[in-house]
Amino acid sequence: MSRRERVSDQIQETRGKLYSDQNALCWWCHLPMAFNDFELAHRVPQRRWCLDRWGAAAVQHPRNLVATHSGYCNARAQLDPESAEAEVHMQSIRKEIRFGKTTVVEG
Ligand SMILES: [Zn+2]
Repeated sequence: MSRRERVSDQIQETRGKLYSDQNALCWWCHLPMAFNDFELAHRVPQRRWCLDRWGAAAVQHPRNLVATHSGYCNARAQLDPESAEAEVHMQSIRKEIRFGKTTVVEG
């Protein structure tokens, strides 16, 4: 299996897991989503400075992703990356990466 296939497999696995964790409901509007018609939205976006600040592993971590409808719902899932909420969210993910488990419960 090539690296590209492995990455693609991981993305499919993350998609499936988030979809079932959210009971097939959109993270933003809570209405049902079809399995072949939803998106993974980044809470903190994959901007260059965000990747530099928190690291790609944190920005691309499943906990920074939510399953949403495309368009409006996807856009609403994004945190202001300069907000304190984004900082707390990303530090929590970084801690989980470092210690291998979740120690912060998010509201
Ligand atoms: Zn929605």
